Amino acid sequence: MSDCIVIGGGIIGMMSARMLAISGAEVTLIDQRECGKESSWAGGGIISPLYPWQYDDLTNDLSFESQAIYEALCDDLHHSSGVDPQYQKSGLLMMDEFESSEAKAWMKRYHIGYDRHVDGALFTHVASVRNPRLLQALKADIIQKGVKIVEHTQVENLITKEDRVLGVHTSKSDFLADKVITCAGAWSEQLLTLKDEIFPMKGQMIVLKAQVGEIPHVILNQGRYIIPRADGKILIGSTMEEVGFNRDIDDQTKQSLHEFAWQHVPALKNAEIEYHWSGFRPASRSGKVIVAKDESYQNLFINTGHFRNGLNMAPASANKITKLVNE
Ligand SMILES: Cc1cc2nc3c(=O)[nH]c(=O)nc-3n(C[C@H](O)[C@H](O)[C@H](O)COP(=O)(O)OP(=O)(O)OC[C@H]3O[C@@H](n4cnc5c(N)ncnc54)[C@H](O)[C@@H]3O)c2cc1C
Repeated sequence: MSDCIVIGGGIIGMMSARMLAISGAEVTLIDQRECGKESSWAGGGIISPLYPWQYDDLTNDLSFESQAIYEALCDDLHHSSGVDPQYQKSGLLMMDEFESSEAKAWMKRYHIGYDRHVDGALFTHVASVRNPRLLQALKADIIQKGVKIVEHTQVENLITKEDRVLGVHTSKSDFLADKVITCAGAWSEQLLTLKDEIFPMKGQMIVLKAQVGEIPHVILNQGRYIIPRADGKILIGSTMEEVGFNRDIDDQTKQSLHEFAWQHVPALKNAEIEYHWSGFRPASRSGKVIVAKDESYQNLFINTGHFRNGLNMAPASANKITKLVNE
């Protein structure tokens, strides 16, 4: 019997488990595959919403809180695990949308400073992380902090009695706990009392082999982006496809992502496409992230629906859910 069971070992589940363990809880984290291999692995690692004015206040608040702690958090994880999440203050060049009235109102409201780039684009001081490394570091760190990780074990349903959750029934055995936190990403729907809310939004990405320093910052235009990594690799993303849990990737998308890259950076025309993949963002019908206590069960908590911003919002979402669990 643990104090807390966390369902799902993506960035949201592992960050939540970390903060719960730091707060003194005995935590068991259960994942149906291996931790950190789904959306959190597939994402681009930009530590900001792409167009923040399109999101609600909670998303913006969690983003700002996370941005303020990310660098120190990555340093801590690097020290404890030996794996460098490669937090980079690369900056982001936004080629579109920033002239809209929503964008201007948002910048005024949050006192966001920006620089006009030579070509008229907007330069913002956004950072990025190398998310697969961040996940590796985080996993090692939470193991050191005493979190018990149970992988290749699917939570099939919650074990409930009246208005309380007693634990979870899994593909292997039952696990009991005082509190259960659902962080199952795009798969959360089946474990929530709230119905028809969370669904998968597939995104395809590619990575190109390029010269170190070919692009100094992230480039964003019309929802697509180019992200430079420290070793010269360049990520290009991403599509938005509502196709259920279909992981297929296709050549047409691969070519169109590559074309987007070389239209913005001509030198990338001959760059080799090293890998092409897809992932499922946890989208919500309301467009809102859910970091809350469940309405039906007293000791059930939900941390999901982070859509395009889960890597960005994870530290603050973990802080918030830990506060709610310990209230
Ligand atoms: C192409 C793409 C680009 C992106 N780019 C960015 C970006 O630049 N910046 C950003 O902030 N965000 C980005 N995102 C979004 C971000 O990746 C997600 O919001 C975030 O990863 C969600 O984290 P999660 O932990 O909720 O989900 P996941 O990482 O998907 O983790 C959920 C976990 O739950 C497990 N699970 C599910 N059901 C069960 C069950 N029944 N029992 C046990 N385990 C279960 C799964 O195996 C999985 O490990 C991107 C996403 C994609 C797909």
